[in-house]
Amino acid sequence: MNKETLEQNYRAVTANIQQACKRSGRSPDEVGVIAVTKYVGIETTEAVLDLGVGHIGESRAQEAVPKWEALGNRGTWHFIGHLQRNKVKDVVGRFTYIHSLDRFSLAQEISKRAAQKEVTVRALLQVNVAGEESKFGLSPDEVVEFSREVAALPHLTVAGLMTMAPHVPNSEEVRPIFRELRALRDKLDTYRGASEKQLELSMGMSNDYEVAVEEGATMVRVGSSLVGRER
Ligand SMILES: *Cc1c(COP(=O)(O)O)cnc(C)c1O
Repeated sequence: MNKETLEQNYRAVTANIQQACKRSGRSPDEVGVIAVTKYVGIETTEAVLDLGVGHIGESRAQEAVPKWEALGNRGTWHFIGHLQRNKVKDVVGRFTYIHSLDRFSLAQEISKRAAQKEVTVRALLQVNVAGEESKFGLSPDEVVEFSREVAALPHLTVAGLMTMAPHVPNSEEVRPIFRELRALRDKLDTYRGASEKQLELSMGMSNDYEVAVEEGATMVRVGSSLVGRER
């Protein structure tokens, strides 16, 4: 994608987030944009970083690793896709955040690999709020117990909750999903106590990030409406 279009897109996304913040009485400083670059190559990813977007999201280890090798010294990298155990060793040490933690065996593997690399991974628990068969994630009623189990692992910290809403033409329809994830986050924050940092809410993609921001998202994951699609 050419730089001008990219810059225009970024300005539009930023302006939309500002408007959504205004409508919901939030400060735009509370909302971070993760540029999802899974549809584009190294060149466009580099152009995104040049714009000053500090957070990059990738969802497939195999494609993300070469990109990280080229650009990983810039920005903060978020792994947002479904993660298989045999790929954990490629992701840990490169990606600061993993947004797709959804089972204990995966958490154990992440902590083990993180210990070897002497890092601590910030993990977000993926929640399948809508209960869609096709999507990964914990069911909402598993989240509190799961977060307790995971908290015992030494090289992993629970940094927040993530969800993917169903893809629908009218984003208003998914507002209750975002609202439920937020309520779950608030509940978890209460359990964790006031001394712990408030958990992140990773929710909102190209078609629904404005609604997600109105409902409290602190991280939005925007791909196609920012960088287009090269593949
Ligand atoms: C691809 C992807 C996104 C971005 O999707 P767009 O609709 O292109 O913005 C966000 N989150 C996850 C988990 C993804 O896999």
